[in-house]
Amino acid sequence: MIKGLRIFFRLRKRKLYKKANSLSSRRSSSKNKNYLKYKEQARVLVKERLDYYNNFYNYKWGKVAIRNQKTRWGSCSKRGNLNFNYKIVLLSSKQADYIIVHEICHLQEFNHSQVFWDLVSKTVPDYKEVRHSLHMNSLRLG
Ligand SMILES: [Zn+2]
Repeated sequence: MIKGLRIFFRLRKRKLYKKANSLSSRRSSSKNKNYLKYKEQARVLVKERLDYYNNFYNYKWGKVAIRNQKTRWGSCSKRGNLNFNYKIVLLSSKQADYIIVHEICHLQEFNHSQVFWDLVSKTVPDYKEVRHSLHMNSLRLG
């Protein structure tokens, strides 16, 4: 009786383990599906808003990449390549614009100094509020 129960639990444990594994792989493939689904949309949005704000800033960038990043909304490399998270299409236009402007300003100021924030505030005067609303979720800006 006890032996039977033990085998029963062992079998059950193995099944649960398998189930957990298949759930996590299903979850990661749905993440990739979202990336594929929104990537081109994000690219169109990012290019359009980059051009729009760069009418004001007039800086030069290298490549623009849309990435499936876990921790970042965007980043700017020392060579002036810009990366954006595809999830930018899921944000409000205010939040998306702030991310675009933030990275554009890094082309000029590669830091978060007051000079940098002054540049940001020229086109997004309420950047502090928008920044705060973005901090509500776990992604950061580079
Ligand atoms: Zn930054």
